Amino acid sequence: MRKTIVKLAGKKVLRVDGDARVRIVRPRKTDRLKKLARKPRSRSIAKAQIPAHARELYARLRAVYPNAHVELDYTTPLELLIATILSAQCTDKRVNMVTPLVFRTFPTAQSLADADPAVMEEMIKSTGFFRNKTKSLIALGKALVERHNGQVPDSMAELVKLPGVGRKTANVILGNAFNKNEGVVVDTHVGRLAVRLGLTRQTDPVKAEQDLMALVDQGDWTMLAHVLIFHGRRVCFARSPQCAICTLAEICPSSTV
Ligand code: SF4
Repeated sequence: MRKTIVKLAGKKVLRVDGDARVRIVRPRKTDRLKKLARKPRSRSIAKAQIPAHARELYARLRAVYPNAHVELDYTTPLELLIATILSAQCTDKRVNMVTPLVFRTFPTAQSLADADPAVMEEMIKSTGFFRNKTKSLIALGKALVERHNGQVPDSMAELVKLPGVGRKTANVILGNAFNKNEGVVVDTHVGRLAVRLGLTRQTDPVKAEQDLMALVDQGDWTMLAHVLIFHGRRVCFARSPQCAICTLAEICPSSTV
């Protein structure tokens, strides 16, 4: 009868079957281990220390990214609104490749409202979810024409009533096209970094935004999102945060170094 002895790499016997063969295998990474490998372990920060911690983090990130800005190309509020809607589940780089033609073809809310869906779908196909995005953009054009004389409104209350526009998109428009700090943009990068950096425990974007708004001055809300997004795209990657080269490593509760 053949024997199989399975051992862990650390010499501990895991299983013995039969009587013929000895084999050493490395332990398989479980899903949990895989997660730990790519997710930094988080230490908590005392609640009373969080505001000072946030100020220090923000100051360091501003020093590293003094020119952090929205990385979508645009020249008008309408262009930024179109680009932001197209950026859902898509990279800014890809969006910037398609928007020059989109902006030329649909330069006004009326032209968006009158767009041929097939033409628009073809134009924005590479950004993903192009059928839904086409519906949103045409509905957006109609709503802007009907309710706002073809102009993009500059208030949160009016923006979030537009098709395809949620609080995150509204914050992008208000902060960048109108220079109004009404909230903090919480996208995937901001949400991830805010938790890793100990600024919030909330994974719900709206709740996380409330926590972030309480930690920095209102005048810094737009820039806070910019520097977090820059850092998330350049250093604190979702799967492999580069803690060894991170300017926040010594104060980040999730640092692995
Ligand atoms: S040290 Fe830097 S890279 Fe590492 S988890 Fe913290 S913020 Fe992200």
